[in-house]
Amino acid sequence: MADIIEKTVSDLRLEKRFAERLEHPERVIEFTFPLKRDDGATIFLMGWRSQYNSALGPYKGGIRYHPAVNRDEVILLSKLMTFKNSLAGIPYGGSKGGIAFNPKEFSRAELERISRQYVRELYRFIGPDVDIPAPDVNTTAEMMAWMVDEYNILTGKKEYATFTGKPVEFNGLKGRDEATGRGAYFVMLEAFARHKIPKSAKIAIQGFGNVGMNLARILYENGYMVVAVSDSKGGIYCKDGINVSKVMALKSEGKGVQDYATNENANVKLITNEGLIESECDVLVPAALDNQIRKDNAAKVKAKYIFEAANNPTTAEADAILNERGVVVYPDILVNCGGVSGSYIEWVQNREGRIYTYEQVVKELEGVMKRAFSLVASEKDKDNKISYREAAYRASIRRLAAAMQYQF
Ligand code: NAD
Repeated sequence: MADIIEKTVSDLRLEKRFAERLEHPERVIEFTFPLKRDDGATIFLMGWRSQYNSALGPYKGGIRYHPAVNRDEVILLSKLMTFKNSLAGIPYGGSKGGIAFNPKEFSRAELERISRQYVRELYRFIGPDVDIPAPDVNTTAEMMAWMVDEYNILTGKKEYATFTGKPVEFNGLKGRDEATGRGAYFVMLEAFARHKIPKSAKIAIQGFGNVGMNLARILYENGYMVVAVSDSKGGIYCKDGINVSKVMALKSEGKGVQDYATNENANVKLITNEGLIESECDVLVPAALDNQIRKDNAAKVKAKYIFEAANNPTTAEADAILNERGVVVYPDILVNCGGVSGSYIEWVQNREGRIYTYEQVVKELEGVMKRAFSLVASEKDKDNKISYREAAYRASIRRLAAAMQYQF
């Protein structure tokens, strides 16, 4: 990513010091802490919070629980948040946090102890005007509730705006749970209109969690054709379209998406997550983890359009191959900025002591996404040689540099 920042700063004829500032995090907090397991054994877990850049306001970014979490990944994701928040036009810097462990191997009581301990390690460094965490991969609204409760106990305040993505009944926001998927949907609508992509386009979505499932549902409810979905155990493909509601019902019973492939749905094929990336489709949406489109599979992607709903799903080498092949890639900092924009509305709601209706949230979100899309589209229109990723970075870095000029 170093290259795209340097190149963008140079293309925009901005001073080099802006690129230098954007190359490094302002602060990274790293810690290990003990966890007493349910069976009495003590283990140690490692956690991080990277506060990358605060030029536009308090740091903002999610918390990830995953065995692959590490210092470099957290820093990279916090960097992405910096550019995303700038592009979304919200008053936030960028951050990210995480703990390296597999939450599937821990009980609910253990997950609560881990979440509360994470806050004990960090509470001096976060707050509604300092750094505002939110959910990310494998972290839920319930975990945000434990975290904000722990924060309020430790500080003796009732500062719900310190965390976003909370349960609605605990000062959360109606519609926050689907905001990333809905935001991606708004971006897709704009792009479909811009490129004249027909409604019958075949859409493949990798990942069926918060982002992938909500996006698949919203597309399905609006008459679009989702031909492939997947979760960590594998995926399904059906050229005539998948009944997303039925797959959601299976997931809510604790089953996997592949359980949809029964005798009743004989034309549904089982595929791997790799297979999904290479599947026969017009539009591909990675909505799971990082680095899913790499130099070894980028040439095999059949889609003409990619919408990066996940963070960092395409490696730099793969991006170059896709550009070369004329595949249009809408970048993560645009496609998934609906999540943090929903979080922003939640933060405003908590700080103002008011309660937004679901309809107000959707309308606000639509406005944010359309504005961000049009910023990217107009950069692209000004210079058609660049990719949509470069266009998004130009729009984002313009805003960051305009604020940074007063700060150093
Ligand atoms: P999630 O934990 O709710 O879901 C992740 C999904 O990925 C699950 O369906 C899981 O089964 C699947 N998965 C796990 N391992 C996989 C693998 N090896 N191959 C394919 N699929 C696999 O997470 P989420 O919140 O939906 O986040 C997905 C992506 O979107 C991440 O990159 C995240 O950073 C990004 N994102 C999330 C939000 C948000 O509001 N939740 C906002 C912006 C960006």
